[in-house]
Amino acid sequence: MSILIPILVLTGVGVVAGVALAYFSRVFYVPEDPRVDRLEEILPGANCGACGFAGCRDYAKGLVAKNGDVPPCPVGGKAVAEKIAEILGVAVADVEDQVALVRCAGTRDRATTRGTMVGVRDCAGAALLGSPKSCRFGCIGFGDCVGVCPTKAITVYGGGLAVVDPDLCIGCGLCVSKCPVDCIGMVPRDRRVHVLCNSRDPALVTRAACKVGCIACNLCTKKDPAFVVASNVATFTGVTCDPEVRFACPNDVIVHTDHTSVLAFVESEAARADYEAEKAVFKEKEKAARAAARPAREPKNAGEQP
Ligand code: SF4
Ligand code: SF4
Ligand code: SF4
Repeated sequence: MSILIPILVLTGVGVVAGVALAYFSRVFYVPEDPRVDRLEEILPGANCGACGFAGCRDYAKGLVAKNGDVPPCPVGGKAVAEKIAEILGVAVADVEDQVALVRCAGTRDRATTRGTMVGVRDCAGAALLGSPKSCRFGCIGFGDCVGVCPTKAITVYGGGLAVVDPDLCIGCGLCVSKCPVDCIGMVPRDRRVHVLCNSRDPALVTRAACKVGCIACNLCTKKDPAFVVASNVATFTGVTCDPEVRFACPNDVIVHTDHTSVLAFVESEAARADYEAEKAVFKEKEKAARAAARPAREPKNAGEQP
């Protein structure tokens, strides 16, 4: 008998609460704008939060509430922006299809270190203590970015560098904010040329820290104005360039992805050997062209009046 009373009381409370909830949910029901469902359908469904909302459905609600006046979905790119504009009847948001790029080619054999870090296994902690690399701007390689990537597009390879697979990257940008040395940048998906260096140190410091650092020598900018040097480091700002421009770089830090993937450029000895061989041919060609352009020297004393 003593057990029956609490059971009956709890059941009664449950029934009353259930009826009250059902009643109030009917009375206070606010119908949702049907465009939310349509928008959710066309969003990528990555639920990565790169738009600043908790997920794709939240973003859809935000779009409806603000009539499209929210940051664009970086994952969906132009195609999704066009569909959003169509559903909401607003102008298409200006959004570029982007991928992440780790701007560092300083593998273990190319970059010098300040020593071995004991007991620290994450980039944030290592950066706080001063990077184990001599270059404080280079990829530390403990993979903090790997853990946040929703599509597993980033891998830290044997050379100790993180490399992004552009085919897997959806452009959410979550890795960018995770990197404590800011060596990940978002670049247009169709860009074929990259300067794989992030060092903003002066040339002498960069040269001492890494064999493949950009020393801001401007040789590339003289070949193609789409290269821009700022804060001691070059960036390519166009889509593509003459593949031979990369051979102008004295430190071999320009990759042309029509010829070599970033991964091969950074990790593959065979790809590096091919690059060296092509560069040697290019240099010979350049030397021959210079020689041909030089005016033939007059024989000594030729033209002298007796
Ligand atoms: S890119 Fe940045 S976060 Fe990723 S491994 Fe390198 S230093 Fe760490
Ligand atoms: S690499 Fe991963 S985390 Fe970085 S932008 Fe691409 S999908 Fe997002
Ligand atoms: S040529 Fe190479 S080292 Fe010189 S500014 Fe360009 S990328 Fe940097």
